[in-house]
Amino acid sequence: MPLPDIAQYPERYRFKFCPRCATPLAVVVLHGMARQRCPACGWVHFPLPNLAATVVIFHEGGVVLVQRDIDPDRGMWHLPIGHVEYGEDPADAAIREGEEETGLRLAEPRFLTYTFGPSYGDPLLYYLVLSFTARSVGGALTGSEEGRATRVVPLTELPPLKWTSQQAAIDALRTGVR
Ligand SMILES: [Zn+2]
Repeated sequence: MPLPDIAQYPERYRFKFCPRCATPLAVVVLHGMARQRCPACGWVHFPLPNLAATVVIFHEGGVVLVQRDIDPDRGMWHLPIGHVEYGEDPADAAIREGEEETGLRLAEPRFLTYTFGPSYGDPLLYYLVLSFTARSVGGALTGSEEGRATRVVPLTELPPLKWTSQQAAIDALRTGVR
């Protein structure tokens, strides 16, 4: 599939001015593609996918699901997931999101698989989602500090998960694919 060009960038990536010096951006061909570059300071726009981490938490014989409390898909059950912060190891992000969303303390993050594809909220915006497993080692499944409901479901009884990244994580876990 051809890569998106500047006209196909998501709205939030369509810059008019240099984010460093506020000069209007020019379009130049660089490394074989049209890109936005600042004629004053040389800054070049290299858009990247959003990076997220999700975690399959093993707890009391099952896997922890949390209930989404914002739109879209309010009420849906899913694995803990969130954006990786700048400078943060994705494995640490998986642990942090899992702990924030469940109240448990987690350990032993292990990489499972990844998915890459358009966000379903904005098909022009790409997501790279890394999935991990982790084990609960303390804390209490009291519902999250963020106020979300949680439940524990045996792996064999997990319902299909709507988000591609999360179903891929469960599929990888079941088949042993790394
Ligand atoms: Zn500039």
